[in-house]
Amino acid sequence: MRYIEPHAHMVSRVTDDYTKMTLAGCAAVCEPAFWAGFDRSSADGFHDYFCQLTEHEPKRAAKFGLPHFSWLCINPKESEDVKLAEDVIALIPKFLDRPNVLGIGEIGLNKNSRNEMRVLEMHVDLAARHNQLILVHTPHLEDKLKGTRLILDVIRNHKNIQPNRVIIDHVEEHTVKIVLDAGMWAGMTLYPESKCSPPRAVDMLEVYGDERIWMNCACDWGVSDPLAVPKTGLEMKKRGHTAEAIDQVIFQNPLKFLGQCPKFKIAER
Ligand SMILES: [Zn+2]
Repeated sequence: MRYIEPHAHMVSRVTDDYTKMTLAGCAAVCEPAFWAGFDRSSADGFHDYFCQLTEHEPKRAAKFGLPHFSWLCINPKESEDVKLAEDVIALIPKFLDRPNVLGIGEIGLNKNSRNEMRVLEMHVDLAARHNQLILVHTPHLEDKLKGTRLILDVIRNHKNIQPNRVIIDHVEEHTVKIVLDAGMWAGMTLYPESKCSPPRAVDMLEVYGDERIWMNCACDWGVSDPLAVPKTGLEMKKRGHTAEAIDQVIFQNPLKFLGQCPKFKIAER
């Protein structure tokens, strides 16, 4: 099995995770900027985080033979402070030319607040001005459907964003269709305890097909599983999906979306 991990917060993980991912057939890992588990006290904290994502973590990953890519933004959880968000967004352009940066993400909404919406619009505009791919985080639980609709509206209302260059992550059964119908990509985030489990993800694939869909583990500093994607590949195998069908979802699909950024180059084993 070979796969691409399109969404993992590796700065929070130990070296054993890199070893296990490489052994499981991981060909590349992509790391969106996210909440660190605590609020940063200034834009300087984000500057250092962006250096970590674009300089230090790629070097650490390379020691395990894994190409590492990143996405930059101020996450929705810290976007409530609009002044801080403006200062952080002003830092981003100088990082966009770095060789491992794929786009703007993971932006989106957390509590669907007015300030989060304003910062989301600023990020979408930044992506449009710099011709960047977009990776979106959708809120969890009861806020998800409303938040997903609000996010789709913001993206559709920007005339310079092509929907096939946007991935809406953390989709569930009640949001996957509206994302695909909008012409965007849908990401299924696999959680070990709650929300989208591997069997639920395969159920969704069997209902909605495998076009414009990827899977990711989104492993971070909380309870999460860096091997959730290959384990879901095994779940597909158990249910009788062919090796080609599994490869399509966990390797070819992320390769197709991410390959829209010319910097995403990996060896096809
Ligand atoms: Zn994430």
